Amino acid sequence: MPEAPAQPASHDPRAALDVRFSETTRGRWSDVPAADWNDWHWQLRNRITRLPELEGSLALTPEERAGVILSGNRLAMAITPYFFNLIDPADVSCPIRRQVVPRIEEMSFGPDEMEDPCGEDRHMAAPGLVHRYPDRVLFLVTDRCASYCRYCTRSRVVSGAGGHLDADHEAAIRYIAAHPEIRDVLLSGGDPLLFTDEKIDALLGRLRAIPHVEFLRIGTRIPVFLPQRITPSLVGILRRHHPLWMSVHVNHPRELTAESRDALARIADAGIPLGNQSVLLRGVNDSPEVMRELVHRLLLCRVRPYYLYQCDLIRGSAHLRTSVREGIDIINELRGHTTGYAVPQYVVDGPGGGGKIPLNPEYLLAHDGDRLVLRNFRGDIYEYPEEAPTDSHSAQPVRRRDDEIVCLGLD
Ligand SMILES: *Cc1c(COP(=O)(O)O)cnc(C)c1O
Repeated sequence: MPEAPAQPASHDPRAALDVRFSETTRGRWSDVPAADWNDWHWQLRNRITRLPELEGSLALTPEERAGVILSGNRLAMAITPYFFNLIDPADVSCPIRRQVVPRIEEMSFGPDEMEDPCGEDRHMAAPGLVHRYPDRVLFLVTDRCASYCRYCTRSRVVSGAGGHLDADHEAAIRYIAAHPEIRDVLLSGGDPLLFTDEKIDALLGRLRAIPHVEFLRIGTRIPVFLPQRITPSLVGILRRHHPLWMSVHVNHPRELTAESRDALARIADAGIPLGNQSVLLRGVNDSPEVMRELVHRLLLCRVRPYYLYQCDLIRGSAHLRTSVREGIDIINELRGHTTGYAVPQYVVDGPGGGGKIPLNPEYLLAHDGDRLVLRNFRGDIYEYPEEAPTDSHSAQPVRRRDDEIVCLGLD
């Protein structure tokens, strides 16, 4: 009998992709029982929030040390043990570290920087409810997150160190119910998934009970900071409130570990479409190579890259900000060169409350009269002729019941 051809070790096509998702190590928590480590309450209770704990595990630079001490007056430091272990302790410019370890530069305020760069406080329709766009609202339900991003656009209210969010769920729900033009409610904060299952269920249920609310979304970084929170029980609750979408916040491919991939899979398996909102950050993801790796891994996790944000003019964020040109150049390197689904829309929030404004590489080089000059992703030039309409509407052919083509006016 002829020998069967050698088979590859695994027939699971996804196994080959597994190598892309690093298994995290426990680091200094190696003696913590798995049941604790995998318990999101344990992760929250054991967050790194103070200088001695941080210094005990990571050799800090003087800029970081000073930043940690001063962060208590502005945006608190908090890092879950799980996320902390993604930091490469040997690399002072580690892209994970730059996102969550405070630096003294956070205390330098540039002349164009603002406390409330998106002008949200001025658009509050009720405490914690921003109604800027005609048909949708941003519902800030809490001011707490699992870990704090150093470039947080809401650092004026988030974490409870500098200020706090004046939220009133009842008033916000009353406002939404009284405004039939609101068909889309985006829950954010802070991180809504820090609430208990019961509270999330109740809040989504109240919103779902409003007849004109069609579309619910949750903005969260939990699948990255605290994937242990995405329990089967939580996704069982979320799926009762469809159509529900979710926007996550992943900035660097290393954040997509085996744990976060599995958490995202539980969400996707519950029928919740996933989008990603990245912030373009200096030294984190400001290169086409890192961004390409990130968007490809996101697609493997069934997450569609949605927005790439220019870093807001939040006070003390200049060290993390890139130029707008760099952002446009990155999109230029993605568009056409890779899967269209993988390319996010680059946006800048109009300072002071203009909302999201899309920024794109220029593909329309000239438009004179009946001729467009276009370029494609390779830089090749194409002319697209636009014929001017030659006749009035009355000459348009129409199809009749009997399928006979006639021209109106000649009939
Ligand atoms: C971003 C944002 C939204 C949602 O905008 P989409 O473009 O629909 O994702 C709604 N309200 C506010 C205030 C926002 O900042």
